[in-house]
Parts: sequence; C-alpha cells; structure tokens
Amino acid sequence: MPNQKIDTKAFKRSLQQSENYHRRGFGHDAQVHKSMNSEYQSDLIQIIRDRNYRYSQGDVTIRLAESFGFCWGVERAVAMAYETREHFPNEKIWITNEIIHNPSVNQRLREMNVGFIELIDGEKDFSVVESGDVIILPAFGASVQEMQLLNDRGCKIVDTTCPWVSKVWNSVEKHKKRDYTSIIHGKYAHEETVATSSFAERYLVVLNLTQAEYVTNYILHGGDKEEFLALFKNAYSQGFDPDRDLEKVGIANQTTMLKSETEQIGKLLEQTMLKKYGPTELNEHFMSFNTICDATQERQDAMFDLVKEDLSLMIVIGGFNSSNTTHLQEISVENKIPSYHIDSVARILSGDRLEHKPLDGEITVAKNWLPEGKITVGVTSGASTPDKVVADVIKKIFELKH
Ligand code: SF4
Repeated sequence: MPNQKIDTKAFKRSLQQSENYHRRGFGHDAQVHKSMNSEYQSDLIQIIRDRNYRYSQGDVTIRLAESFGFCWGVERAVAMAYETREHFPNEKIWITNEIIHNPSVNQRLREMNVGFIELIDGEKDFSVVESGDVIILPAFGASVQEMQLLNDRGCKIVDTTCPWVSKVWNSVEKHKKRDYTSIIHGKYAHEETVATSSFAERYLVVLNLTQAEYVTNYILHGGDKEEFLALFKNAYSQGFDPDRDLEKVGIANQTTMLKSETEQIGKLLEQTMLKKYGPTELNEHFMSFNTICDATQERQDAMFDLVKEDLSLMIVIGGFNSSNTTHLQEISVENKIPSYHIDSVARILSGDRLEHKPLDGEITVAKNWLPEGKITVGVTSGASTPDKVVADVIKKIFELKH
C-alpha cells in the first residue's frame, strides 16, 4: 500500500468517534464464552495444570510449561470475532488477515462464514469489500492506511487490536511528535510491525542484536551508506538517510520478540547515544520504552524454567508464522534439546515420522523422533494456540507409546 502521509493521530481520533467503529464487543459475552470453552478448552489440560504441570501415563511423562497458550489479547480478539458474527448475522464479514496465527481458529472462523482478505502478488486484495460490510482488524492490528481505506469505503470496523500493541503505537506517536526516528525491534514484514511502522514518520526495523550493533557502529563511526541501505532494504521509511536520521532515536518493539533481546537492543542504543552525546544530552537523543507484553514475557520465562529439566524432547505448538512460538522454539534449540515446532496434531504422522518446522528452515520430516522406553516430553505452545490443540498432541503421544 502506498506510503502516503497521514495525520495518524487525528485520523485515529476521528475513527474512534465514528459510529462505524467498534472496539469493545457487543454484549454477547456469555454465549461466546460458552462456545469458545467447548471449542478450545480441554479437560486434560486442566488436569495437568492441577497436577502441577506434570502428568504421566505409561512410559510418558509430560511436563507442561507453567505458562503457555492463549494469551489474554488473543482470547479477547477471538471472542470479539465470535461476537461480531452474532451481532451482524446477515452482513458480509471479512478479516484483514488471520485473526491470530493459528490454523484451527482461522478454520473455525471460515466455517462461520467469515472471509479472509487474500494476498495477491504480496498486496491485500480489498476489491471484494463493499460499503456496509463488516471488517475485523486482527489482534496484531492493521496499518493506518488500511484502516483509512476501509473507513473511506463505508465499512463497519471491528478493531480487535491488542491494547499492548496499541501501547507501542502510542510510543511511536510520541517519537514522531518529538521528531525522533523509531527503531523497531521486529520483523519488517510481520503484520504487527507493518502496522506499527505505519504510525511512524521515520523508522528503521532491526531484526536482532547483530543488526542493532551494525546500526550503533554506524552511529558512532559512520560507514558506507549504500551498504547500510542495502542491508536494511525494505526495513526503513521512505527517504530514510542513516547519516541524518539516526541522531535522535526512540525504541519500539514487535510485542512478540524475545524480551531479553529487545532489552539488549534498547540498552545498546542508550549506551551508544550516551557515548556520542554525553549524559546531559542523552534525553535529547534517546527515548526509552516499556512496551513488552506480559504474556510474551511469561511464556518465555516459563520456557527458560522448563529447559532446565531433564527432557527427552520438546514439542512446541503454534502456527508456523507465529513469531512468539518461534521464539519459544529458539530457547529450546539453544539449550540443545531435540525440539519440534508443529502446528497441529496432524503433523505427527507416526511414532517414526513427524513433520515439523526447524528454525529458519522449510517443513521437514523427522524420523525416529519418539525415543523408546521411559521419556519425559516438554510441551509448550504459543500465545495463539488453544488448549485443545495442545491436548490433542499429548493424547497422540500417549497413544503412540501405548
Ligand atoms: S501476545 Fe501480548 S501483545 Fe500479542 S495479543 Fe497476546 S497479550 Fe497482546
């Protein structure tokens, strides 16, 4: 979508006052809660929770992470999507993207006759959306250009953007107001980061600490501008100039990145600005942040505890394009535990074969993944994975080891 200049703050304010804009549900909570419980909850998971996250059957002991699965923001977004269907039984309903990164939830919405906007040649095809249609914005938000287009078309907008994501957008607005460049720790093509960067005047997306170090080196010592721009291709705002636009920076984050890395990047930039401008000038050149979502942090902390145990293997469950799930898998891999990222029980083909997605690799089949004899299996899941999906995987492991 073209990066036209919009007064994002004024636009959001007027959108929020419009009668076509909804961000608080429609009062069908009780009914929706009931359907969601029966579709996504699991008795087995409740039993495992009650037994201190440990459960054995035959040769298998399951060790469940003490924080896993559906986060508050995702549950809220899914509930709002269900409520939208109840509230608008006859209207056409669309979602600008997967509501969350979970195939079973998205499939359930399709069954409820909710359409997904398709990507054609990398661009979302909004030509199917007509005036009066209802459009749901997902938990990780939508870009301001998208919101404007849908508003101009006369759609009813149901905004399920997680408040934690909105909090990041507010930081970016502050950067813009004070003429700072937003340095966003994230993946530039991830929908949440696309949305976040759409609120910025000037931004640079850094993927990891290595990229951040490159940037700080450039801030301190200068460097080859062409090389800089090539390295960060697609990851900066139009007209970005590293020689001019890195004098005043503020930090923002994709809420699902590794918390420790976001913090390290923040500190590194702070120290760099301190070195370059001195303590009295620091506040004129660096704006700190506090927008790491609790849910992501809790799931990562639980994973750090889980990997300390003596595990035969780890199963990490979540959508393959789910950033927070991938980070859980990273923690496991770094601790040298045989770890398999799968998105549903259907990936377990047999006791000998399992389809999984390695970090930075394509889906592949692991052979002999389930060891003989007594085993302890660590299990966790990303913030968009319902308990039921996790329960199905555990039941399958019990069945295969029977
Ligand atoms: S992971 Fe955090 S930011 Fe993302 S939807 Fe859940 S609560 Fe919100």
